[in-house]
Amino acid sequence: MQKQFKHKKQFGQNFLQDKAILNRIIAVSDISKEDSVLEIGPGEGALTELLLENAKKVTCIEVDRDLEKILLEKYSENSSFRLIMKDVLQLDFKEEINEKVKVVANIPYYITSPIIQKLIVNREFVEDIYIMIQKEVAERITAKSSKKRSVLTLSVEYFGEAELLFYIPKEAFFPSPKVDSAFIKISIDKKNKYEKLVNEKTFFKYVKASFANKRKNIVNNLCSLGFEKNSLKVLLEKNDISPNKRAEAFSIDEFIELIQILERTSN
Ligand code: SAM
Repeated sequence: MQKQFKHKKQFGQNFLQDKAILNRIIAVSDISKEDSVLEIGPGEGALTELLLENAKKVTCIEVDRDLEKILLEKYSENSSFRLIMKDVLQLDFKEEINEKVKVVANIPYYITSPIIQKLIVNREFVEDIYIMIQKEVAERITAKSSKKRSVLTLSVEYFGEAELLFYIPKEAFFPSPKVDSAFIKISIDKKNKYEKLVNEKTFFKYVKASFANKRKNIVNNLCSLGFEKNSLKVLLEKNDISPNKRAEAFSIDEFIELIQILERTSN
């Protein structure tokens, strides 16, 4: 008899059990037999099976050595399947992937932000990103204007666009986690609209400073970059930006405009 797999909390192992949800993931992920797919954290391979039926090639990256045998037993004879046993955060896209992939995955939630950042940094290899994440994080990433906006929201908006596709209740997983989930799509902006206006380093310098203390307004937060408070207030008012506004209330376009104003005056 096959030994039962013991789920490990430290690897965020909550496996999707619900066949209807697995099918829905495939239905919304827009993959075809032309596509190479990257699946982060295949677990026991429930989603992998459907990906293999629908894509040209599926590369899985899994950190837990106990899952290697299970996955190889199931799929090693399928020539479209490839398994990389490694921490996804250590993956070298140029060396180990070196092609355009669509990412489709139920990722480990404890490293949601580092995974999204890793995919964005390697965007030359990433076409679209379809991932299951914690519901609250999904709502933060896709928030258009509310208290839920954060540095992560703006990081995604700077490089692309995020869309919340559907919610998944915790009961759809085994073991059942404490939180509900959501499936989102992040598309990378191939035209680099915002990068052309403000470069990456400058953008993140201002965004991080603006969110440093979420309860402070934009002026108080930006003072940490060396601006003099009263002159900054006057400058913002002159440009019809309320000095009392908080970072979370700025859209990406308003942030870009603000940074351009600040850069013009400090140069
Ligand atoms: N895709 C499977 C499913 O839907 O049933 C499993 C999803 S489970 C939420 C997350 C998976 O990511 C687990 O298989 C876990 O071992 C794997 N994992 C955790 N940390 C990882 C890391 N740093 N790199 C790669 N895989 C990781």
